[in-house]
Amino acid sequence: MKIAVFSTQKYDREFLSAVPTEHKFVFFEAQLNTDTVNLTQGFDGVCIFVNDHADSEIISELKNNGIKVIALRCAGFNNVDVKAAEKAGIRVVRVPAYSPEAVAEHAVALIMTLNRKTHKAYLRIKENNFSLERLTGFNIYGKTVGVVGTGKIGKAFCKIMLGFGAKVIAYDKFEDDEAKKLGIKYVTFEEVLKNSDIISLHCPLTPETKYMIDWEAFANMKDGVMLINTSRGALINTKDAILALKRGKIGYLGIDVYEQEEHLFYKDLSENIIPDDTIARLMSFPNVMMTSHQGFFTKEALTEIAATTVGNIDCVAQGKPSPNEVKSE
Ligand code: NAD
Repeated sequence: MKIAVFSTQKYDREFLSAVPTEHKFVFFEAQLNTDTVNLTQGFDGVCIFVNDHADSEIISELKNNGIKVIALRCAGFNNVDVKAAEKAGIRVVRVPAYSPEAVAEHAVALIMTLNRKTHKAYLRIKENNFSLERLTGFNIYGKTVGVVGTGKIGKAFCKIMLGFGAKVIAYDKFEDDEAKKLGIKYVTFEEVLKNSDIISLHCPLTPETKYMIDWEAFANMKDGVMLINTSRGALINTKDAILALKRGKIGYLGIDVYEQEEHLFYKDLSENIIPDDTIARLMSFPNVMMTSHQGFFTKEALTEIAATTVGNIDCVAQGKPSPNEVKSE
Protein backbone atom coordinates (compact mmCIF):
# COMPACT_ATOMS: atom_id res chain seq x y z
CA MET A 1 0.00 0.00 0.00
CA LYS A 2 1.09 3.58 -0.58
CA ILE A 3 0.74 5.47 2.68
CA ALA A 4 0.83 9.23 3.26
CA VAL A 5 2.41 9.86 6.65
CA PHE A 6 1.28 13.16 8.20
CA SER A 7 2.87 15.28 10.96
CA THR A 8 6.18 13.55 10.24
CA GLN A 9 9.11 14.24 12.52
CA LYS A 10 12.65 13.00 11.88
CA TYR A 11 12.16 10.14 14.34
CA ASP A 12 8.93 8.96 12.61
CA ARG A 13 10.81 8.64 9.33
CA GLU A 14 13.73 6.89 11.05
CA PHE A 15 11.69 4.33 12.99
CA LEU A 16 9.07 3.61 10.27
CA SER A 17 11.77 3.26 7.61
CA ALA A 18 13.60 0.73 9.81
CA VAL A 19 10.69 -1.78 9.64
CA PRO A 20 11.08 -4.23 6.72
CA THR A 21 7.94 -3.86 4.55
CA GLU A 22 6.65 -3.74 0.99
CA HIS A 23 4.49 -0.72 1.77
CA LYS A 24 5.68 2.63 0.49
CA PHE A 25 5.65 5.49 2.99
CA VAL A 26 5.67 9.08 1.75
CA PHE A 27 6.42 11.52 4.55
CA PHE A 28 4.70 14.90 4.91
CA GLU A 29 5.59 17.33 7.67
CA ALA A 30 2.12 18.89 7.32
CA GLN A 31 -0.71 18.05 9.66
CA LEU A 32 -3.72 16.29 8.10
CA ASN A 33 -6.51 18.88 7.96
CA THR A 34 -8.91 20.43 5.43
CA ASP A 35 -6.05 22.32 3.75
CA THR A 36 -3.81 19.27 3.31
CA VAL A 37 -6.26 16.44 2.65
CA ASN A 38 -5.71 16.94 -1.12
CA LEU A 39 -2.21 15.53 -0.65
CA THR A 40 -3.78 12.09 -0.19
CA GLN A 41 -4.70 11.74 -3.88
CA GLY A 42 -3.04 8.63 -5.29
CA PHE A 43 -2.51 7.04 -1.85
CA ASP A 44 -4.15 3.96 -0.33
CA GLY A 45 -3.86 5.02 3.26
CA VAL A 46 -2.90 7.73 5.73
CA CYS A 47 -0.79 7.41 8.84
CA ILE A 48 -1.60 10.09 11.41
CA PHE A 49 -0.72 11.21 14.92
CA VAL A 50 -2.38 12.92 17.90
CA ASN A 51 -2.90 16.38 16.43
CA ASP A 52 -4.00 15.42 12.91
CA HIS A 53 -7.65 15.83 12.01
CA ALA A 54 -9.93 13.12 10.67
CA ASP A 55 -13.41 14.54 11.18
CA SER A 56 -16.37 13.62 8.96
CA GLU A 57 -15.57 16.31 6.36
CA ILE A 58 -11.97 15.14 5.99
CA ILE A 59 -13.03 11.49 5.98
CA SER A 60 -15.39 12.19 3.08
CA GLU A 61 -12.46 13.72 1.15
CA LEU A 62 -10.27 10.75 2.08
CA LYS A 63 -12.95 8.41 0.70
CA ASN A 64 -13.11 10.39 -2.56
CA ASN A 65 -9.34 10.06 -2.84
CA GLY A 66 -9.52 6.28 -2.46
CA ILE A 67 -8.11 6.02 1.06
CA LYS A 68 -8.78 2.62 2.61
CA VAL A 69 -7.06 2.90 5.98
CA ILE A 70 -6.38 5.48 8.67
CA ALA A 71 -3.43 4.13 10.65
CA LEU A 72 -3.00 6.01 13.92
CA ARG A 73 0.51 5.79 15.29
CA CYS A 74 -0.81 6.45 18.79
CA ALA A 75 -3.31 4.98 21.25
CA GLY A 76 -5.88 7.80 21.54
CA PHE A 77 -8.34 8.21 18.66
CA ASN A 78 -10.41 11.21 19.84
CA ASN A 79 -9.32 13.06 16.67
CA VAL A 80 -10.98 10.51 14.34
CA ASP A 81 -14.71 10.36 13.60
CA VAL A 82 -14.82 6.58 13.75
CA LYS A 83 -18.51 6.37 12.77
CA ALA A 84 -17.87 8.50 9.67
CA ALA A 85 -14.91 6.27 8.77
CA GLU A 86 -17.02 3.13 9.14
CA LYS A 87 -19.70 4.67 6.91
CA ALA A 88 -17.06 5.56 4.33
CA GLY A 89 -15.65 2.01 4.42
CA ILE A 90 -12.29 3.25 5.72
CA ARG A 91 -10.68 1.03 8.35
CA VAL A 92 -9.20 2.71 11.42
CA VAL A 93 -6.31 1.02 13.20
CA ARG A 94 -4.20 2.24 16.11
CA VAL A 95 -1.36 1.27 18.42
CA PRO A 96 -3.21 0.53 21.65
CA ALA A 97 -0.19 -0.29 23.80
CA TYR A 98 3.32 0.53 22.74
CA SER A 99 4.84 1.21 26.09
CA PRO A 100 2.51 2.13 28.92
CA GLU A 101 5.61 2.36 31.12
CA ALA A 102 7.02 5.16 28.92
CA VAL A 103 4.04 7.43 29.69
CA ALA A 104 3.80 6.33 33.33
CA GLU A 105 7.50 7.05 33.86
CA HIS A 106 7.09 10.49 32.26
CA ALA A 107 4.28 11.27 34.71
CA VAL A 108 6.73 10.36 37.48
CA ALA A 109 9.38 12.61 35.89
CA LEU A 110 6.92 15.52 36.06
CA ILE A 111 6.10 14.73 39.69
CA MET A 112 9.71 14.48 40.77
CA THR A 113 10.84 17.59 38.87
CA LEU A 114 8.03 19.70 40.32
CA ASN A 115 8.56 18.24 43.75
CA ARG A 116 12.38 18.27 44.11
CA LYS A 117 12.90 21.18 41.66
CA THR A 118 15.84 19.53 39.91
CA HIS A 119 15.29 21.79 36.88
CA LYS A 120 15.94 24.82 39.10
CA ALA A 121 18.84 23.17 40.95
CA TYR A 122 20.51 22.33 37.62
CA LEU A 123 20.44 25.96 36.49
CA ARG A 124 21.52 27.27 39.90
CA ILE A 125 24.59 25.03 40.07
CA LYS A 126 25.58 26.12 36.53
CA GLU A 127 25.76 29.64 37.95
CA ASN A 128 27.73 28.63 41.07
CA ASN A 129 24.62 29.15 43.16
CA PHE A 130 24.76 26.32 45.69
CA SER A 131 21.98 27.67 47.91
CA LEU A 132 19.06 25.40 48.83
CA GLU A 133 16.65 28.24 49.53
CA ARG A 134 13.20 27.62 47.98
CA LEU A 135 14.12 24.12 46.76
CA THR A 136 12.25 22.30 49.54
CA GLY A 137 10.37 19.22 48.34
CA PHE A 138 8.21 16.60 50.04
CA ASN A 139 8.40 12.83 50.48
CA ILE A 140 6.15 10.82 48.16
CA TYR A 141 6.41 8.04 50.77
CA GLY A 142 3.26 8.01 52.87
CA LYS A 143 1.34 10.45 50.63
CA THR A 144 -1.99 9.64 48.99
CA VAL A 145 -1.82 9.42 45.23
CA GLY A 146 -5.13 9.47 43.33
CA VAL A 147 -5.30 7.94 39.86
CA VAL A 148 -8.13 8.56 37.40
CA GLY A 149 -8.19 5.71 34.87
CA THR A 150 -6.50 2.43 35.75
CA GLY A 151 -5.96 1.09 32.25
CA LYS A 152 -2.54 0.16 30.90
CA ILE A 153 -0.78 3.46 31.69
CA GLY A 154 -2.69 4.12 34.91
CA LYS A 155 -1.76 0.68 36.26
CA ALA A 156 1.92 1.07 35.30
CA PHE A 157 1.85 4.43 37.11
CA CYS A 158 0.16 2.91 40.20
CA LYS A 159 2.89 0.25 40.44
CA ILE A 160 5.60 2.93 40.50
CA MET A 161 3.75 4.95 43.13
CA LEU A 162 3.28 1.84 45.29
CA GLY A 163 7.04 1.31 44.97
CA PHE A 164 7.55 4.81 46.40
CA GLY A 165 5.52 3.75 49.44
CA ALA A 166 2.51 5.92 48.61
CA LYS A 167 -1.09 4.99 49.36
CA VAL A 168 -2.79 4.66 45.97
CA ILE A 169 -6.51 5.30 45.51
CA ALA A 170 -8.20 5.27 42.12
CA TYR A 171 -11.36 5.96 40.18
CA ASP A 172 -12.25 4.17 36.97
CA LYS A 173 -15.60 3.49 35.34
CA PHE A 174 -14.56 -0.18 35.31
CA GLU A 175 -12.66 -1.54 38.29
CA ASP A 176 -9.75 -3.81 37.48
CA ASP A 177 -9.01 -6.99 39.47
CA GLU A 178 -5.27 -6.84 38.78
CA ALA A 179 -5.20 -3.26 40.12
CA LYS A 180 -7.05 -4.38 43.26
CA LYS A 181 -4.53 -7.21 43.79
CA LEU A 182 -1.73 -4.64 43.59
CA GLY A 183 -3.24 -2.91 46.63
CA ILE A 184 -5.05 -0.07 44.88
CA LYS A 185 -8.25 1.02 46.58
CA TYR A 186 -11.11 2.05 44.28
CA VAL A 187 -13.10 5.08 45.46
CA THR A 188 -15.45 7.59 43.82
CA PHE A 189 -14.13 10.39 41.59
CA GLU A 190 -15.06 12.89 44.32
CA GLU A 191 -13.08 10.91 46.91
CA VAL A 192 -10.02 10.92 44.65
CA LEU A 193 -10.31 14.70 44.41
CA LYS A 194 -10.89 15.16 48.14
CA ASN A 195 -8.24 12.85 49.58
CA SER A 196 -5.26 12.96 47.20
CA ASP A 197 -2.00 14.85 47.65
CA ILE A 198 -1.13 14.03 44.04
CA ILE A 199 -3.72 13.39 41.30
CA SER A 200 -2.68 11.83 37.99
CA LEU A 201 -5.05 11.56 35.01
CA HIS A 202 -4.87 8.42 32.85
CA CYS A 203 -8.30 8.15 31.20
CA PRO A 204 -9.09 8.89 27.54
CA LEU A 205 -10.66 12.11 26.30
CA THR A 206 -14.34 11.46 25.57
CA PRO A 207 -17.41 13.72 25.66
CA GLU A 208 -17.86 12.40 29.22
CA THR A 209 -14.33 13.16 30.43
CA LYS A 210 -13.91 16.55 28.71
CA TYR A 211 -13.27 19.17 31.43
CA MET A 212 -13.68 16.55 34.18
CA ILE A 213 -11.22 18.78 36.05
CA ASP A 214 -13.02 22.12 36.16
CA TRP A 215 -13.49 24.78 38.79
CA GLU A 216 -15.86 22.59 40.83
CA ALA A 217 -13.34 19.73 40.80
CA PHE A 218 -10.53 22.07 41.90
CA ALA A 219 -12.74 23.30 44.76
CA ASN A 220 -13.03 19.69 45.99
CA MET A 221 -9.27 19.10 46.00
CA LYS A 222 -6.85 19.57 48.90
CA ASP A 223 -5.17 22.95 49.06
CA GLY A 224 -1.73 22.71 47.48
CA VAL A 225 -2.59 19.57 45.48
CA MET A 226 -0.26 18.35 42.74
CA LEU A 227 -2.12 17.67 39.48
CA ILE A 228 -0.49 15.67 36.67
CA ASN A 229 -1.97 15.22 33.19
CA THR A 230 -0.25 13.03 30.62
CA SER A 231 -3.49 11.96 28.90
CA ARG A 232 -5.23 14.65 26.84
CA GLY A 233 -5.28 18.42 27.40
CA ALA A 234 -9.05 18.87 27.42
CA LEU A 235 -9.50 16.67 30.49
CA ILE A 236 -8.65 19.90 32.31
CA ASN A 237 -10.44 23.21 31.80
CA THR A 238 -7.28 25.29 31.38
CA LYS A 239 -8.93 28.62 32.21
CA ASP A 240 -10.19 27.14 35.51
CA ALA A 241 -6.70 25.73 36.19
CA ILE A 242 -5.21 29.20 35.76
CA LEU A 243 -7.71 30.60 38.26
CA ALA A 244 -6.91 27.78 40.70
CA LEU A 245 -3.18 28.52 40.29
CA LYS A 246 -3.72 32.25 40.85
CA ARG A 247 -5.65 31.52 44.05
CA GLY A 248 -2.97 29.11 45.29
CA LYS A 249 -5.36 26.14 45.25
CA ILE A 250 -3.04 24.13 43.00
CA GLY A 251 0.39 23.65 44.54
CA TYR A 252 1.93 22.08 41.44
CA LEU A 253 0.70 21.45 37.91
CA GLY A 254 2.53 19.04 35.60
CA ILE A 255 1.16 18.69 32.08
CA ASP A 256 2.43 16.83 29.04
CA VAL A 257 -0.71 17.74 27.10
CA TYR A 258 -2.55 20.98 26.52
CA GLU A 259 -5.99 21.78 25.10
CA GLN A 260 -4.66 23.92 22.24
CA GLU A 261 -1.45 21.94 21.74
CA GLU A 262 -1.99 21.21 18.06
CA HIS A 263 -0.97 24.80 17.19
CA LEU A 264 2.26 24.58 19.20
CA PHE A 265 3.56 21.17 20.13
CA TYR A 266 6.22 19.41 18.04
CA LYS A 267 7.21 22.72 16.42
CA ASP A 268 10.27 24.87 17.09
CA LEU A 269 8.64 28.25 17.66
CA SER A 270 11.59 29.75 19.52
CA GLU A 271 11.79 32.72 17.10
CA ASN A 272 8.01 33.25 16.93
CA ILE A 273 5.52 35.36 18.81
CA ILE A 274 3.09 32.94 20.47
CA PRO A 275 -0.47 34.24 19.95
CA ASP A 276 -1.90 31.89 22.60
CA ASP A 277 -2.20 33.96 25.79
CA THR A 278 -3.46 31.00 27.81
CA ILE A 279 -0.26 28.96 27.42
CA ALA A 280 1.78 32.12 28.01
CA ARG A 281 -0.03 32.64 31.34
CA LEU A 282 0.40 28.98 32.27
CA MET A 283 4.13 29.11 31.61
CA SER A 284 4.46 32.20 33.80
CA PHE A 285 3.73 30.22 36.99
CA PRO A 286 6.82 28.94 38.80
CA ASN A 287 4.92 25.82 39.92
CA VAL A 288 3.83 24.72 36.43
CA MET A 289 5.90 22.23 34.47
CA MET A 290 4.94 21.61 30.87
CA THR A 291 6.35 19.19 28.30
CA SER A 292 5.39 18.94 24.66
CA HIS A 293 3.42 15.64 24.57
CA GLN A 294 6.54 13.53 24.97
CA GLY A 295 5.27 10.90 27.40
CA PHE A 296 5.47 8.25 24.67
CA PHE A 297 8.92 9.34 23.54
CA THR A 298 11.28 6.46 24.31
CA LYS A 299 13.25 4.28 21.89
CA GLU A 300 11.29 1.23 23.00
CA ALA A 301 7.94 2.94 22.36
CA LEU A 302 8.97 4.32 18.94
CA THR A 303 10.17 0.85 17.84
CA GLU A 304 6.88 -0.71 18.95
CA ILE A 305 4.76 2.05 17.36
CA ALA A 306 6.50 1.60 13.99
CA ALA A 307 6.27 -2.23 14.04
CA THR A 308 2.60 -2.27 15.10
CA THR A 309 1.67 0.40 12.53
CA VAL A 310 3.22 -1.65 9.71
CA GLY A 311 1.49 -4.81 11.07
CA ASN A 312 -1.84 -2.98 11.15
CA ILE A 313 -1.43 -1.84 7.54
CA ASP A 314 -0.45 -5.43 6.55
CA CYS A 315 -3.80 -6.65 7.95
CA VAL A 316 -5.74 -4.08 5.92
CA ALA A 317 -3.71 -4.78 2.75
CA GLN A 318 -4.41 -8.52 3.13
CA GLY A 319 -8.09 -7.96 3.96
CA LYS A 320 -7.63 -9.58 7.37
CA PRO A 321 -9.08 -8.36 10.66
CA SER A 322 -6.65 -6.49 12.91
CA PRO A 323 -6.62 -6.83 16.69
CA ASN A 324 -5.95 -3.09 16.75
CA GLU A 325 -9.04 -2.03 14.82
CA VAL A 326 -10.97 0.95 16.22
CA LYS A 327 -14.75 0.43 16.16
CA SER A 328 -17.46 2.93 16.96
CA GLU A 329 -18.85 0.74 19.77
P1 NAD B 1 -6.52 2.33 28.45
O1 NAD B 1 -7.64 2.23 27.49
O2 NAD B 1 -5.69 1.12 28.74
O3 NAD B 1 -7.04 2.88 29.86
C1 NAD B 1 -7.94 3.93 29.98
C2 NAD B 1 -8.73 3.72 31.27
O4 NAD B 1 -9.58 4.85 31.46
C3 NAD B 1 -9.63 2.48 31.22
O5 NAD B 1 -9.43 1.68 32.37
C4 NAD B 1 -11.05 3.06 31.18
O6 NAD B 1 -12.02 2.24 31.83
C5 NAD B 1 -10.84 4.37 31.93
N1 NAD B 1 -11.90 5.34 31.68
C6 NAD B 1 -12.61 5.56 30.55
N2 NAD B 1 -13.53 6.52 30.75
C7 NAD B 1 -13.39 6.91 32.04
C8 NAD B 1 -14.06 7.87 32.84
N3 NAD B 1 -15.09 8.59 32.36
N4 NAD B 1 -13.66 8.02 34.12
C9 NAD B 1 -12.62 7.26 34.63
N5 NAD B 1 -11.98 6.34 33.91
C10 NAD B 1 -12.35 6.16 32.64
O7 NAD B 1 -5.60 3.52 27.92
P2 NAD B 1 -4.07 3.80 28.25
O8 NAD B 1 -3.21 3.10 27.27
O9 NAD B 1 -3.83 3.58 29.69
O10 NAD B 1 -3.99 5.37 27.88
C11 NAD B 1 -4.66 6.34 28.65
C12 NAD B 1 -4.60 7.65 27.91
O11 NAD B 1 -3.25 8.13 27.89
C13 NAD B 1 -4.97 7.58 26.42
O12 NAD B 1 -6.36 7.69 26.23
C14 NAD B 1 -4.24 8.75 25.83
O13 NAD B 1 -5.12 9.87 25.84
C15 NAD B 1 -3.09 9.02 26.80
N6 NAD B 1 -1.76 8.81 26.21
C16 NAD B 1 -0.84 9.80 26.30
C17 NAD B 1 0.44 9.61 25.77
C18 NAD B 1 1.50 10.67 25.89
O14 NAD B 1 2.49 10.63 25.16
N7 NAD B 1 1.36 11.63 26.79
C19 NAD B 1 0.74 8.43 25.12
C20 NAD B 1 -0.22 7.42 25.06
C21 NAD B 1 -1.48 7.61 25.60
